[in-house]
Amino acid sequence: RFEGWGPQGQDHWPERYPYCGGALQSPIDLESDLLRFDPTLRPIEVQNYNLSPNEQLTLGNNGHSGEYTSTLSLSPMMSISSLHNRYTAAQLHFHWGSSSRPAGSEHTVNSKQYAAELHVVHYNSDKYPNISTAVDKSDGLAVLGVLVEVGMFNPAFEHILKFVNDQKVKVPAFNIRALLPTRLDEYYRYDGSLTTPPCYPSVLWTVFRNPITVSRKQFLTLATALYSTNAQDSASMSLNNNYRKTQPVDNRLVLASFKERKYGLQTWLALLPEHG
Ligand SMILES: [Zn+2]
Repeated sequence: RFEGWGPQGQDHWPERYPYCGGALQSPIDLESDLLRFDPTLRPIEVQNYNLSPNEQLTLGNNGHSGEYTSTLSLSPMMSISSLHNRYTAAQLHFHWGSSSRPAGSEHTVNSKQYAAELHVVHYNSDKYPNISTAVDKSDGLAVLGVLVEVGMFNPAFEHILKFVNDQKVKVPAFNIRALLPTRLDEYYRYDGSLTTPPCYPSVLWTVFRNPITVSRKQFLTLATALYSTNAQDSASMSLNNNYRKTQPVDNRLVLASFKERKYGLQTWLALLPEHG
């Protein structure tokens, strides 16, 4: 159990969870000046994301059990195949703002916070038998982060939203690939952590450059469907703003698989790797 995200919340995480005050923490601000273009970063390839509707997934809407989001368990057939090891999918979940403030992404881009963020969590199945063994290992997890903005209606998102309420439900599987942006070749890459306690520094982060959209109505459904029950308080409160503040980058390298286009030649040259 942790205390939540408010003033009594994340600033106090390190007292009980030392890793939260340690190195390699996430999320971070993906600032242009920090980025280094890495031409060796290949497009992300996912396997078996196109699940059959005959398959069932479990959606846990965990507001009442002291957790913080709606978590969809994924099929162990799903994986990322383009990294050095195979990473098998375990679950996906969202972070979001509130109905009055559609700004709840965890990663920010040049300080811009998006409406929400999707995390598809995978573990290193070449090295570890399951996610609970992998979760605290330095090469244990790989998370795909997708920034979400309010705009066009998102039919794939609807597969989850239809079932978001305060209980555990079985939901028909669908094509999870449709929740990712069209382009899987443009992304940020860095070494970071879980964004909730115990904040293990075990995550190879991939945050896609291009956001997906959900409609305003879909965003409002997400922002108001879940409730958290505070033990000291009989009233349940709408669960929102469940994102962690950005953390120090320190001396980490933040790689980009793409070249920024909005800067002049000088910035450009500074971003290029040095010639031998
Ligand atoms: Zn997350």
